[in-house]
Amino acid sequence: MEIIKSTENIEELAVDGIVLGCYSNYNFTEHAGMRLSSYLEKYKELEEFNDEKENILLYYIDGITAPRVVIAGLGKKEELDHEKVRIAANNAVKLLRKKGAKRIAIEVLGNDGQSTSEGVLLGLYEFIELKSQLKDHKFVESVTFVGNENQLIDVDVGIITSEAQNKAHRMANLPANHATPTIFTDYTKDIFKDIKNTEIIVHNEEWAKEKKMGSFLSVAAGTDEPAKFLEIHYNGTKDDVKPLVLVGKGITFDSGGISLKSGTGMGLMRGDCTGASVVINSIYGIAKLGLKLNVIGLTPLTENLPSGKATKPADVVVASNGKSIEIDNTDAEGRLILADALIYSETFNPFAVIDIATLTGSMMSAISDGFIGGFSRSDVLWSELEKAGIQSHERYWRMPLDKHYKKQIKSDLADVKNTGGSRAGAITAALFLAEFIELEDWVHLDIAGVSFPENRKPYHPNGVLAFGTRSIIQYARNIVSKG
Ligand SMILES: [Zn+2]
Repeated sequence: MEIIKSTENIEELAVDGIVLGCYSNYNFTEHAGMRLSSYLEKYKELEEFNDEKENILLYYIDGITAPRVVIAGLGKKEELDHEKVRIAANNAVKLLRKKGAKRIAIEVLGNDGQSTSEGVLLGLYEFIELKSQLKDHKFVESVTFVGNENQLIDVDVGIITSEAQNKAHRMANLPANHATPTIFTDYTKDIFKDIKNTEIIVHNEEWAKEKKMGSFLSVAAGTDEPAKFLEIHYNGTKDDVKPLVLVGKGITFDSGGISLKSGTGMGLMRGDCTGASVVINSIYGIAKLGLKLNVIGLTPLTENLPSGKATKPADVVVASNGKSIEIDNTDAEGRLILADALIYSETFNPFAVIDIATLTGSMMSAISDGFIGGFSRSDVLWSELEKAGIQSHERYWRMPLDKHYKKQIKSDLADVKNTGGSRAGAITAALFLAEFIELEDWVHLDIAGVSFPENRKPYHPNGVLAFGTRSIIQYARNIVSKG
């Protein structure tokens, strides 16, 4: 799909449909709609024209070149926020797509260029690349964003955050046979090939053995697919500035291993690499925006499968910091690969470490798809992420990282056990991770609930959601602008 930006008069654009924003009582957001105000006067009596958040579709308006005009209702001006703009933009362009419009122009809604472009581009994204036949499928060929030069600068930001988000969605949704650890690293190289100041290092199992990453490698033991450990460097500022390190769980397929999951819904476990997808593509977004900070991304990648070589319950393995782990349940593998990645993250002397993982069913039960559940030792870091979450509407909820629960992961065999029983499972998972990182400024984000959602936003695609990408980019933007 072609993305165009224009400062021209939207009324004169030769496209198949245009979108104009409109507050309640038919106050148009930009001059283009002014003439329509008087035109619409006669409609105000009609019941169906009185829902201020609805779209109104009109045809062949005098003085407007495009045959279709959608008036996107934004509600009350004083109540407008980023999320309402995203949803309004999404709904309006989808209505035009449904009517067969292939070339669409939309003015910046509510003077919010970023949210306008996010609503459109997130909304129009579909994961359909594996279908060979798309009968009757309606595509948009081009979108033109119309606004003044300042508004179009914000549109550019939204184009990049949406692109990052959509690439993350794609990587999260690819089935295991289309995204083995090896293919996953190839896609990553591809994503970064033209992005300045970035470097992609793909470590193999030999390297992990040298680093004594026994915890990570214990998960890879059951599969024939070689595990990879991806390391991404974005050098956005001077070398001596401490980096932000992002760590993402990259289980390209999770069968549970010897502690095999039940078959129902197992296919969704193609998305157990969502944390890795979020990390890779957040860094892509940060680098493409050219933000002046250093970021390192670490994603251990492997399948978790049962076989004659697979790790078994009660096996004891040793992580790279020397701590021994009793593998109580091989389906609690995410924390095992993250343990070694967190230990490695501290070798970069980071100012903060954020790990992100589809980690526990327990988090899904606790807060479902309304919030990213997180744990942190640092109030400051937490509040910064929370703020970015509100701005991007990927909201965060803090859970207790409290030693009260620690006895649940005590092991008779080893230093620590990888599960803590049926209660407070998201918390015991976080406490397990805390055993492998000493840094105060560390946040663990459990995205299991939001990435496999029951309720979706109108601009969310089907399948697994790579939730967190936009808020992490926003967090980085906030850090940089704070200086
Ligand atoms: Zn698992």
